[in-house]
Amino acid sequence: MNKTLRKAFKFQLKATPAVSRQLANFAGGSRFVWNKALALNLARLEQKAPLLWYQELNFWATLWKQSDESGFLRELPSQVIQQKLKDLEKAFKDAIDKNQPLKRIPVFKKKGQRDSFRYPQGFKIDQEKSQVFLPKIGWVSYRNSRKIVGEAKNITVSRKGKYWYISIQTEYEAELLPHQSTTIVGVDMGIKQFATLSNGTVYASLNSFKAKANKLAKLQRQLKHKKKFSNNWKKVKAKISQCHEDIGNARKDYLHKVSTEISESQAIIVIEDLRVKNMSKSAKGNSEKHGNKVAQKSGLNKSILDQGWSMFATLLEYKQNWSNGSVLRVPAHYTSQTCPSCRHVAKENRLTQAEFVCVECGFSENADLVGAINVLAKGHVLLAGKQPSDRRS
Ligand SMILES: [Zn+2]
Repeated sequence: MNKTLRKAFKFQLKATPAVSRQLANFAGGSRFVWNKALALNLARLEQKAPLLWYQELNFWATLWKQSDESGFLRELPSQVIQQKLKDLEKAFKDAIDKNQPLKRIPVFKKKGQRDSFRYPQGFKIDQEKSQVFLPKIGWVSYRNSRKIVGEAKNITVSRKGKYWYISIQTEYEAELLPHQSTTIVGVDMGIKQFATLSNGTVYASLNSFKAKANKLAKLQRQLKHKKKFSNNWKKVKAKISQCHEDIGNARKDYLHKVSTEISESQAIIVIEDLRVKNMSKSAKGNSEKHGNKVAQKSGLNKSILDQGWSMFATLLEYKQNWSNGSVLRVPAHYTSQTCPSCRHVAKENRLTQAEFVCVECGFSENADLVGAINVLAKGHVLLAGKQPSDRRS
């Protein structure tokens, strides 16, 4: 079987000071366009007017280019501006898409924060010479660390610190071998443990980066005692942003490690469908339906947890797609309250966060493991071609 695979190749650019200035101008112009178009749409939301989509936004951008105030946009490749507007359109579409409850209305971009722009066409790549041709800039060398495979579809230029990077997205056809494993597993994602598998494997909580979190809290206390904008205040502020970055990186590494491990050992991974569950919303109300889990969840920083889980699901899907395995999403309802032994559903089965005790048959087990087993059972039902029901007795 053949399949179209996508892959990204990231390299550091060897940008001269002159090229760096140009890249910074392009990134700045792209940010300007994003913010200006975003402001237009936010004003329309306020007035309950329909949003402007790509075609209309592009018309506005043409006017901005002609004005004295923002004439600097004429230096940018048109396709770079158009791509930014398309990105904004997609961000708005995702935000109003009911199937993506975790997506939020796009926000303004600040200078120096994820500066980036994309060339959808017109670029060239010379792997022999380790050079890329960027329209309106010219040939730029890059640190060639690996061979680019596939047909290049677009190039994203981004800045991190003082360095510029290119990320080349490619597509190629590949023959797929069956997944190396033949097993199926259910995953329960939780607060106390990040993930529990139906085979008993447990992955510790994402919140377990205690040392770093403590350091961050300490720095934030220090900041309060410094005079605003003084040199010491700036020093602490810089340490805080470094600390945030460290924590974010540690989280990402952890999500990568766990998803790789599960993906390598399981052909089919069954997870709860968080897109439907929308954990933030469920934690706010409806305690009747969700029982004790709600109380446990409401005190935590939900957006971070939601993001962690949704990124985890995305990574699992991405990695399974690569290895020809699969990810099944099943409805999340009652997975924590159903008895795996007699199928009795009651919130009283789950009186504590840690322990599951069935009020009907007395079956008892670690609650996260019960969740994972129930998720696996729903996966089996799905594979048998039936719709998993939310059976309540
Ligand atoms: Zn039971």
